[in-house]
Formats: sequence, C-alpha cells, structure tokens
Amino acid sequence: MMMNAVEAQLAAERVMARCDALAAISESPDNLTRVYLSPEHLRANAQVGEWMAQAGMRVWQDAVGNICGRYEGINNGAPALLLGSHLDTVRNAGRYDGMLGVLTAIETVQWLHENQQRLPLAIEVIGFGDEEGTRFGITLLGSRGITGQWPESWVTYPDGNNITVAQAMADVGLDAGAIHRAARDVSDIAAYLELHIEQGPCLEQAELALGVVTAINGARRLNCRFTGEAGHAGTVPMTHRKDALAAAAEWIVFIEAATREQDPQLVATVGTLSCAPGAVNIIPGEVALSLDVRGPQDLPLERLLSSLLTQGEAIALRRGLSFAEEEYYRISATACNSALQQALGSAVETVQGRTLVLPSGAGHDAIAIAERWPVGMLFVRNARGISHNPAEAVMTGDVALAVRAYLHAVCQLAQRGAS
Ligand SMILES: [Zn+2]
Repeated sequence: MMMNAVEAQLAAERVMARCDALAAISESPDNLTRVYLSPEHLRANAQVGEWMAQAGMRVWQDAVGNICGRYEGINNGAPALLLGSHLDTVRNAGRYDGMLGVLTAIETVQWLHENQQRLPLAIEVIGFGDEEGTRFGITLLGSRGITGQWPESWVTYPDGNNITVAQAMADVGLDAGAIHRAARDVSDIAAYLELHIEQGPCLEQAELALGVVTAINGARRLNCRFTGEAGHAGTVPMTHRKDALAAAAEWIVFIEAATREQDPQLVATVGTLSCAPGAVNIIPGEVALSLDVRGPQDLPLERLLSSLLTQGEAIALRRGLSFAEEEYYRISATACNSALQQALGSAVETVQGRTLVLPSGAGHDAIAIAERWPVGMLFVRNARGISHNPAEAVMTGDVALAVRAYLHAVCQLAQRGAS
C-alpha cells in the first residue's frame, strides 16, 4: 500500500499547518511554551483528539493526560502498532520537536481510513503529555504512564510555584490515585514507532530527508578533580611544580583525541572547569572539571570512559598530583529493535533511494517505551540541526517523504504482525 506523491504533498501541507496551529497553543503570546498539566496541554489534547477522530480513530485521554487514538484492525481488539511522540515543549520551543511525530502518525491513519484499509494490527496514535520535563524537572511522565513505571514519589514533585504533580493533576481533572490506569498490558501493543526531527546535523550533511535510528545514546556524567600544590608563580622552578591546571589541560586534549580515535559515534565533553586558588601569580593547586560521555552502545561507552579515567590517573601520577572522580548520572543506551529498523530502512529506501542509519544524541519517549516493547525511530532532517529553539525548521517536501515512508513501514509491519 503506497501513498502517491500528490496525497503525500497534501498530507505534508496539513501536517505543517497543524504544527502552526499547535504552536499557537502556548502559555505566552510571544513564544511557544506548553508544559505538562497546563490549560494549554488540555487545549492541545482537545485539538489533536479532534484530528484523530477525523482520521477515523476512537479517542480518549488517559489517566496521566496522554491523548490517545485507536484505529481498529481487521479484527476488533487486535494488538496495536503504537505510533507517537510528545506534545509538551521546552520553554521558547520550536514547533516540530514532538508534534511532528504525532501529526505524521495521524496522517498514516487518515490515509488508511480514507482508503478503507484495515490491517491485521490496530494502529494507535499517542501524544504524550510530558517528555521534556519542563514543569516538574522529571522527564518522560507520559510514556512512563503507559509502561506503568511511575515511581510513587513523582506525585509529590513540586513545580516552580510549589504546585505538586498531584495538585496539578487535580487542577485539570485528573486523579493522582488513578495513575496506574494509564498502564497498558504488554499484550496490547506489538511495537512502538516514533518519528522525530533529528536535532542534529547528520541528515543535512548527508543531503537526505530521512534516516533510521539505531539507538538512543546512553550517557555518563562525572565530577573530576586534579589536586596538586598551589605555589608562588615566581619562585617555584618548573621542574618542581604540581600544576593541577596543566595536568587537566593535558587530560582534556587526551579526551578529545582518544574519543575521536576510538569510535566516531562516541562523544566526550569537558563542559566545566574551575581552577583554585585562581590568581595570576599562583600555580593552580586544584582543578575541578566535569566529564560527559555518550554513545549508542553501553560497552564501547564503558570502555572509553575507563580508558579516559585510567589516563587521568596516569597523568596525575606522572606529575605528582592526585586524581579523583565521581559519577553522578548514568543512563543506559536504548537499542532500537532490528526488525523495526529494517522495516523503516526499506521504507526510507523506497521513497528516497537510500537510507542513512544514525544514533540519537537526544533522549526520546522511546527510551521509556523500550523497557516494555520493541521500539523503532525515524528521523526527519531539521535545518542546521537546531532544536529546542524557535528556529527549528523542517521542509514540507521532507515531511511528504516522511509520511510516505512512515505509512509504508506501518503497513509492512502491521501485515506481518510487527514481528
Ligand atoms: Zn522531542
């Protein structure tokens, strides 16, 4: 089943117009800010629910405020292929991050509905209420609602005005005591697909509209410290110094070179550095710095991290300093399912001649969903890779290709039961 080019163009134009319409649903008239459990969240849900209904779906809002639509398969009650992304935004956001995935998903169902096609699987579309974590500082509340992974403590989290999640839920007519009702049975859902803007420059550099995601990067963050000895910048000879900043500098250069050498998909960043005592005439005695490393697979990531830390120790030892590190954040890499990658890849090849596979450097709802169901992701080119910014931009022609590829993959997967 294929959407023709004219249908795809019309669908893409409708997606772009709907992105504009949703961008107007904001807490501020000057920019797009739409946070979880706000009046704007409910308005966006109502609007998206209306579009879902027009596409032939049964529509409901679940117990954590996700907007959901279901298009039955050949047999009522069949497991669903779930398509989705999020409808919340960061502050002063772009209009495509999240929304593009929900609106293109609706177009795939709209086409099936207009062509009176039913598939062996049901198709469900979901607009998650919170992915960004803008309001409460905790993320993926929408997708963790359907996986049933809300820790009990979450309802007590306050926003910037000291309104807790539980109170905010009550304010919009939801019940914090009923959150468990949002959880879906494992057997309800065969697989999850998410279309999203790339948020990086790889597709643009490859001059391609679409690419298939291999994995969502895992990350480790550490606080590190070189401790040497502060001393008089005029009297301590060069051979007697324990200069913490010189050691840190040597290590930072090593981090850059070693990461490049080890694997082009790994990235490492020293983003902060503070030097004490911090005076022009004192040899730096102590330097604190952060280290952030990310990659699409945990094993190479661990290997890189351990080689970087070993070298930090070695540099300190050779210079007569000490080196300390403490990891304060880690998230595992999320692999995309290989059968879903294949189906998306062949759909992308069909519409654009070739495909590109790439990891996602940013987090997505698929991270939470992958704890329960197989996930696959399709990326759409985004001008200069800029996102979380009003300058976020996609081209209508790319969206037309995206809708065609998305529908193609959905039909293929639903025909074979998404296995
Ligand atoms: Zn997003």
